Amino acid sequence: MADLEEFRVETNAWLRANGPASIVGTMQTNEEGIWGGRKAVFPSPDAKRWLAIMAERGWTAPTWPREYGGGGLSPDEARVLSQEMAKLRLPPPLVGFGLTMIGPTLLQFGNEDQRREHLPKICRGEIRWCQGYSEPDAGSDLASLKTRAVREGDDLVVTGQKVWTSYADKSDWIFALVRSDPHAKKQEGITFLLIDMATPGVSVRPIQLISGASPFCETYFDEVRVPLRNVIGALHGGWTVAKALLGHERSMIADVFGGGARKGASSALVEIARRHLDAPEGPLPDPIQRDRIAQTELDARCFALTVQRSRDGAKAGHRPGPETSMFKYYATELNERRHELMVRIAGPQGLGWEGEGFVAEDLALTRAWLRSRGNSIEGGTSEIQLNVIAKRVLGLPD
Ligand SMILES: Cc1cc2nc3c(=O)[nH]c(=O)nc-3n(C[C@H](O)[C@H](O)[C@H](O)COP(=O)(O)OP(=O)(O)OC[C@H]3O[C@@H](n4cnc5c(N)ncnc54)[C@H](O)[C@@H]3O)c2cc1C
Repeated sequence: MADLEEFRVETNAWLRANGPASIVGTMQTNEEGIWGGRKAVFPSPDAKRWLAIMAERGWTAPTWPREYGGGGLSPDEARVLSQEMAKLRLPPPLVGFGLTMIGPTLLQFGNEDQRREHLPKICRGEIRWCQGYSEPDAGSDLASLKTRAVREGDDLVVTGQKVWTSYADKSDWIFALVRSDPHAKKQEGITFLLIDMATPGVSVRPIQLISGASPFCETYFDEVRVPLRNVIGALHGGWTVAKALLGHERSMIADVFGGGARKGASSALVEIARRHLDAPEGPLPDPIQRDRIAQTELDARCFALTVQRSRDGAKAGHRPGPETSMFKYYATELNERRHELMVRIAGPQGLGWEGEGFVAEDLALTRAWLRSRGNSIEGGTSEIQLNVIAKRVLGLPD
C-alpha cells in the first residue's frame, strides 16, 4: 500500500509536469476523444502531443505488457493513474476499439508475431480498428453469418457484406468474422480474421442515422485476399475468440455509458434541470422531477460502485465473463433512462433539431437522446443480454 501511495504521488507530479494546460477539461466523452489511425484528427497540437507523451510512457494502455507498448502497471496502479488523471481533469490520450476490443483479444489469443505487429501500433494510436461482426441476416443470431472465406494457398479470399460497422470509413483495419467452412455446424465453421482495409476489394458506404450523424457503414468484401497469418486462434475456431471479444466489448460499453455517470453525465442532468426548471441553486421546485432526478443519480452512483467492486474483486488477469452482460444491460438501460428524463425536463426545447430559438446544449441533447436509442442494440441487444444472464449467469434451463 505504501508503494501504491508513492506511485500516486509520483504519478500526480508527472501528470502535473507533462499534461498540457490547454487540454485540461477537454475531450471528456468518448466521442470527443482521440481515436488515432492513419486519418487521425486532433482538436489541437497539444492533444497530439499528449498522445505522444503518454504513448512513450506506455500509458495509453497502462496494464498491457511493456514489450507490446503498454505501461506494465498492475490493475491497482492503473486505477491510481486514472484517478489522478480525473482529479487533474486530464482526458484519456487515446480511445477506440484497438485499446478496448482487439488489443485485449490479441493478448489472449494472438500469437507472438501478431501481438508484436499490432499491439504497439494500437498503443501509439497509429492504426484505428473497426468491428466486422454483424451482417444483414446475422445480428443477434451472429453465428448465421455468411461472409465467406475460401482458402487459396497461403491466403483466404473473402467475399460478402458486413453492416453497422461503426467508423469503418475512418478505420485502417477491421477484425471480422468469416465463414471458412460452410459444411460445419454453424459455430464451428467461423474464422476470426484481421483485414487491412487498404487491401483491394474492400469498400465502405456510410449509413445515416436518426440522429443525423453517420457513425457507421456497410462494409463490402469482393474477393479480398488476406494472408493466413492474419487468422487469430485456429482456422474455423473463431467463435471462441469472437465470444471473448464480445466480453471486452460489453465491458467497454458498460464503462462508456455507465461510467459516464461518474464523468459528468449526471451533472449534465442536474444542469439541464436547473436551467429548464429555472432554479439556478437550491432544491429544484418540482417535487416529481426532483424525485426522478435523485433516483437516476442514485442508480448511477450505485452502478458505478458495483462495477468498481466487481473490478476490485477480480483477480489480476481476470477476463470478462458472462457477468459483463449484466453491466452492459444495466448501463445502457440507465443511459437511455437518463436521456429520456433530460428530454422530458427540457420539454419542447429538448425536441429541437436546428435553427433559431434553441440553445446549443438543447440541440445537442436531442441528438444525444436519439443516439442513446442504439445503446440497447449495440454490442448485443438487451434481450440477448437477458438471455445470456439467464443461461450463463443464473444457469436457468432453455
Ligand atoms: C450504435 C450501434 C453501433 C453498432 N456497431 C457495430 C459494429 O461496429 N460492428 C458490428 O458488427 N455491429 C455493430 N452494430 C450492430 C449490432 O451488433 C446489431 O444491431 C445487434 O447485434 C442486433 O442485431 P440486428 O440489428 O440484426 O437485430 P436482430 O437480431 O434482427 O433483432 C431484432 C429484435 O429481435 C430481438 N431478438 C432477436 N433474437 C432474439 C432472441 N433470441 N431472444 C429475444 N429477442 C431476440 C432483438 O433483441 C431485437 O429487439 C451496431 C449497432 C448499433 C445500434
